Amino acid sequence: MTTRPAAAAARATVYGYPRQGPNRELKKAIEGYWKGRVTADALQRTAAELRGAKWRRLADAGIDEVPTGDFSYYDHVLDTTVMVGAIPHRHREAVTADPLDGYFAMARGTQDVAPLEMTKWFDTNYHYLVPELGPDTVFAADSAKQVGEVREALALGHTPRPVLVGPLTYLLLAKPAPDAPADFEPITLLDRLLPVYAEILADLRAAGAEWAQLDEPALVQDRTSAELNAAERVYRELGALTDRPKLLVASYFDRLGEALPVLAKSPVEGLALDFTESASGNLDALAAVGGLSGKRLVAGVVNGRNIWVNDLSASLATLGTLLGLADQVDVSASCSLLHVPLDTAAERDIEPQVLRWLAFARQKTAEIVTLAKGLTHGTDAIAAELAANRAALASRAGSPITHDSAIRARAAAVTEAEARRSQPYAERAAAQRAHLGLPLLPTTTIGSFPQTGELRSARAALRAGRIDAAGYEERIRAEIQEVISFQEEAGLDVLVHGEAERNDMVQYFAEQLIGYLATQHGWVQSYGTRYVRPPILVGDISRPEPMTVRWATYAQSLTSRPVKGMLTGPVTMLAWSFVRDDQPLGETARQVALALRDEVGDLEAADTSVIQVDEPALRETLPLRSADRPAYLAWATEAFRLTTAGVRPDTQIHTHMCYAEFGDIVQAIDDLDADVISLEAARSHMQVARELAAHAYPREAGPGVYDIHSPRVPSAEEAAALLRTGLKAIPAERLWVNPDCGLKTRGWPETRAALENLVAAARTVRSEL
Ligand code: GLN
Ligand code: ZN
Repeated sequence: MTTRPAAAAARATVYGYPRQGPNRELKKAIEGYWKGRVTADALQRTAAELRGAKWRRLADAGIDEVPTGDFSYYDHVLDTTVMVGAIPHRHREAVTADPLDGYFAMARGTQDVAPLEMTKWFDTNYHYLVPELGPDTVFAADSAKQVGEVREALALGHTPRPVLVGPLTYLLLAKPAPDAPADFEPITLLDRLLPVYAEILADLRAAGAEWAQLDEPALVQDRTSAELNAAERVYRELGALTDRPKLLVASYFDRLGEALPVLAKSPVEGLALDFTESASGNLDALAAVGGLSGKRLVAGVVNGRNIWVNDLSASLATLGTLLGLADQVDVSASCSLLHVPLDTAAERDIEPQVLRWLAFARQKTAEIVTLAKGLTHGTDAIAAELAANRAALASRAGSPITHDSAIRARAAAVTEAEARRSQPYAERAAAQRAHLGLPLLPTTTIGSFPQTGELRSARAALRAGRIDAAGYEERIRAEIQEVISFQEEAGLDVLVHGEAERNDMVQYFAEQLIGYLATQHGWVQSYGTRYVRPPILVGDISRPEPMTVRWATYAQSLTSRPVKGMLTGPVTMLAWSFVRDDQPLGETARQVALALRDEVGDLEAADTSVIQVDEPALRETLPLRSADRPAYLAWATEAFRLTTAGVRPDTQIHTHMCYAEFGDIVQAIDDLDADVISLEAARSHMQVARELAAHAYPREAGPGVYDIHSPRVPSAEEAAALLRTGLKAIPAERLWVNPDCGLKTRGWPETRAALENLVAAARTVRSEL
């Protein structure tokens, strides 16, 4: 296959790069600064060195335009808040006294002042700090950081393209400030915000930026016509400015939909669009508007969110089609490479034949450069790269790791009946009541008990070989014993073993399942200086042996009260991992569900009468566009039912989720066909109980009465008052008493006191029934 060379040379670029440095130098420097061990000067030096090294690496790899402004000490949305001067009242003093300390105060709070709220960046696992805006917000341009990075890159001989959060996305991500009316809409501040962007763009031009990138991922979500009109106005007005760099408006994570014709017509010089499968529709939509004549198109053909090698031939075919649709076609990843680890070369424990299937930020950069070269000079110019790529793809497609016929046959043979309990909920509930003999308003917890420093050091000692497996297991058993005896003394009704053996609720299972891969250095920023290493769903999934049964049976042997079995559900196992791109998500979910189903069966066979399957990620994985949600919910709920439906009618299935508002997914929760659900509710005064009642949710539920996100101990009266509120929405026969979530981040003293109060509250309210 040969592709015709492009008329103009295609440039290679990226929108952003992992921030932490090869050895997480940034994390260490920032945390050192917080502890007073690193000076502000030293921190700034480290940051500048990391930026310089990153640009050099990108330029050496063949990237023509390097991103600037994507670096952050904490979060790029918080940087935007600083850039537009939207500092909340409560942080003004700290920011004035010392901008760097004030910045970290906004991010993390201080003894006296609460931080900004943190939430997930679209459907990624990156968290941003939510801007707080109100009718009296006054914006003021502060271009120092953006301009500084442009100058820095120019001084090092690079061509910088500053990357900014676009004004529309900034406002659409904001929420009303605490002192603003609750129905205040930040988007109404657009008129005030645009002059600030105009000033910053002028500063960037003066500093020497030829192009500036404005990121508008909010436009890939369902938008009202008023919001689309706002988009039209923003880019008409910014486009009309005379003193500015050329503007590249970027979108990613999904298709632009109705916003595409709006941006295509606007007087900006370029658009950057996602052309990966998750945004399918962009290509046709672009053709439908007749392409982008007179504009530059940056084509995000390399997936910036997964860790798989690109199919270079397929990308070249897409790029070839795009050549006819814009004046200039450049090549990039679909989004910032912030969401993937840095470099596969750091992985020493992954077999070489599997490692060649993987591409982290550094490998993706090379793919982008190769594609740009192929687009400019034709496929002959990249023949060696194409051959190597074909071999890697073939090795993956043909590997027994990705295609285990026994697992595939089992998944293909799943019947509808297997995903359905043998009796309807009402009959099961009666059988469970008889079997378990629990009081009204039964008390329980969500699973984990405090993960103490001793537990973490025991795990570190095991890894370092200072203790052996037997010594470690001894340590865990002692912890389980303590957790069980505390719960008995406190008077809880349904006990847990405490999850002492789990480093993380996903990783713990991933490490035990065949087909899951762990990385040594695959760190990805979750928020601030917190980095996680998501496991990789690399192949077909199977469970070589039981994963939790020995801990569950040990815990049950210590008490006559029921101890809940505790598993992480299939949707969450996918949501907090890197998923396969070579089969539909639903198929991967089904394989994980079948492995978990076997675990559920083994727990039941070992006399576990109550089994909890956590799905905290069910809602966050919802597709960005509502049209895509029914298909997602169909496979997600099926996977949960496949996990749980094989049990006897008198075995009680619990599930758990941690959010306080979910009116939009009550039907999906009902479709899980679990017997009991526990939910976060304490901070919202049992809002979930009312949402469930409003949707006539028929099952048992435990809206949390203890906010575990704070060390504060709720009094028994407080918990009782929440229970009485809950009783107004959910009848006593169906109401459970539990905390909001697991207790792993809490200390023992407050956990003890809070759970004793929770049991006292249940007793008080029972006596009033
Ligand atoms: N069972 C888990 C725990 O208690 C649930 C955690 C979660 O919902 N995120 O820690
Ligand atoms: Zn939770």
